[in-house]
Amino acid sequence: MDISTKAIALKSVDYGENDKIILLYSLEYGKISVRAKGIKKPKAKLKFCQEPFCLGVYELAAGHGYYVLKTCQQLESFYSLREDIVCFYGGCVVLECLAALQPEEPDARLFVEALKTFDALTAGVNAYIAVLYFLLQFLKQSGYELNFAACSVCGDNSQLYLDPAVGGVVCKQCKGEGAIALSAGTGNLLKLVSSMTSDKLANIRVPDAVSKEAVHSLSSYIAVAVQRLKSATEFIRM
Ligand SMILES: [Zn+2]
Repeated sequence: MDISTKAIALKSVDYGENDKIILLYSLEYGKISVRAKGIKKPKAKLKFCQEPFCLGVYELAAGHGYYVLKTCQQLESFYSLREDIVCFYGGCVVLECLAALQPEEPDARLFVEALKTFDALTAGVNAYIAVLYFLLQFLKQSGYELNFAACSVCGDNSQLYLDPAVGGVVCKQCKGEGAIALSAGTGNLLKLVSSMTSDKLANIRVPDAVSKEAVHSLSSYIAVAVQRLKSATEFIRM
């Protein structure tokens, strides 16, 4: 059966002499693998659709265990993400989160949040704040929503930690061994961003040191709770 789906290209790997396997995150089918025949040939017309961040309508034919690319109509390349190294790595964190999801489990909300994050990054919203917002949405949609108001065990709110073993925010008394301490500034920023809508992110003004630390704390938590994000390490090094 042939399908047509709106999708974001996450990454691609070589397959044989001229082909590639493209990993897509699609609106209707979630994460899927697509074989693009002949795409490595110098004159291949569809080269653009394997580039990370490419948003397009992909026309696919069902193959054995994967789809085969028939054609693609590009809607947006998000090329400007490549022109700023911080934005680029921020975008890579988003792609890596989507790649960590289970195959063929669509999540329209997360699909839209990913595109909104690319828009925010290209529109000049602080990259660390934009990615922080996406990571919180990613956790929420993966069933790990975090509440930064108080300890999820006893309700105390004096000093908070992220505890992957408990699966949430806890206080000093309730924390386990692998808990990640949140400084007052980081805790407040996470609380603020988690209570906001994405259109308000541009209003947040905090030093990069604080937003980087927040991304570091959250990605450390995700590394244990979900999966390690290699690009997050590069991102906060910028
Ligand atoms: Zn507690």
